[in-house]
Amino acid sequence: MKASVSVDRAALRSSLLAWYDRQARSLAWRVSPADRREGVRPDPYRVWLSEVMLQQTTVPHATPYFLSFTQRWPTVSDLAAVEDGDLMAAWAGLGYYARARNLLACARAVAGQHGGVFPDTEEGLRNLPGVGAYTAAAVAAIAFDRPANVVDGNVERVMSRLFAVETPLPDAKPDLKALAGELVTEERAGDWAQALMDLGATVCKPKGPLCDLCPVSTWCEAFRGGAPETYPRKARKADRPRRHGVAYVLTRGDAVALVRRPPKGLLGGMLGLPTSDWRATPYDDAEAREAAPFAADWRDRGAVEHVFTHFSLTLRVFAASLDEGAEAPAAFVWTARLGLSALPSVFLKAARAAERML
Ligand code: SF4
Repeated sequence: MKASVSVDRAALRSSLLAWYDRQARSLAWRVSPADRREGVRPDPYRVWLSEVMLQQTTVPHATPYFLSFTQRWPTVSDLAAVEDGDLMAAWAGLGYYARARNLLACARAVAGQHGGVFPDTEEGLRNLPGVGAYTAAAVAAIAFDRPANVVDGNVERVMSRLFAVETPLPDAKPDLKALAGELVTEERAGDWAQALMDLGATVCKPKGPLCDLCPVSTWCEAFRGGAPETYPRKARKADRPRRHGVAYVLTRGDAVALVRRPPKGLLGGMLGLPTSDWRATPYDDAEAREAAPFAADWRDRGAVEHVFTHFSLTLRVFAASLDEGAEAPAAFVWTARLGLSALPSVFLKAARAAERML
């Protein structure tokens, strides 16, 4: 690991914290550094909720969800009392539904086993269901001012540049975490974590870092080397695997047939279009018709593409319509076309391809 002994950590810290005092982003869940100095404490529920949402999306995308969640469910106990299906519907569009299920499990544990009060240490938070090392550290630091080492992709990038770490990701992760840990102290621990996040998000950006505006450029080895954007070094990525499937859009009058997906696995517990299995090889026409959930006059409506975290999906779309009142499997949940906008986006794409119905 690159040694960091030459860095004046105290000076680096105070420069970044002073910058944060002037430039902190105004975020819906954040207590500003000025308010913090006045003794305003962050609400751990809001900190936790924002951190879970931000793990899968950007601040602009997460903000309306955060505002809507906290308006509907102002406390963790309110969230704990929600029906699973309501939460899944509210989460639609935030991706990766396992996280929504974990969110609910965690809220219920806090409400049921901790009297609605979040544990105030990293270790206590880590013991909650679905709370990983990163979230525990972030909530411990931001909500409780614990000197936790909060390291996400942004912080890894900043460390890799500050210390010109040549080891490529992902092998460099432990080193980057250790380097970040050397900068953590008891002083303003929550503000420090947020200052690093803001630096990574607004100045030390993946492409085109704004080194001229950077409060820590004095100590940045990558800046001195003249090619900061080339950090972090990256190992060649394996291609994301591709899967193939078929989605079936069956209409009856104004309604569309949906099915409740199994509780575990991708998009678990959500309503979605009926589909074939998703597999490595494409479906030909005969296979696509054979895999349909119901015998009908299926028409080929093309295909849509969707990218999940771990694979890309090519989904052929077949459509058919039934007469009003026609019999159909009881497992179908008939939903008005207008209600389809709450579907996970992969199904919304397929529904749109079938009929341009929305
Ligand atoms: Fe990032 Fe540039 Fe600042 Fe270094 S000087 S931390 S590369 S923005």
